[in-house]
Amino acid sequence: MIGEPVEELPLPPPFMWSCIACELFLLRLARKWDDPAGCFWEQLETARHIVESHPGEVPPQHLDGCELCPEYARRGDDHAADVWAQHRARDLFMPPSLARLL
Ligand SMILES: [Zn+2]
Ligand SMILES: [Zn+2]
Repeated sequence: MIGEPVEELPLPPPFMWSCIACELFLLRLARKWDDPAGCFWEQLETARHIVESHPGEVPPQHLDGCELCPEYARRGDDHAADVWAQHRARDLFMPPSLARLL
């Protein structure tokens, strides 16, 4: 069957359920998920929290044709490194089509 890609929320990794802050973020996101644009702040805050508190859990560079990873890697300054880590962290709790917009 060819159709619209199914946009399901990924199952959050176990570390997020053992962290109270992560759990709160996930609950907040779940509550607002019908309106992804409306939970933009929550998405940013969740990614920032993962990068700051769980740096070992941030996924490596996407090697599956992600357009943004090479861009961030090329810039190479501290701010880009930070934003890049958040970009990769978004994959943990958002569907790829949304996670990779930033
Ligand atoms: Zn956490
Ligand atoms: Zn990427």
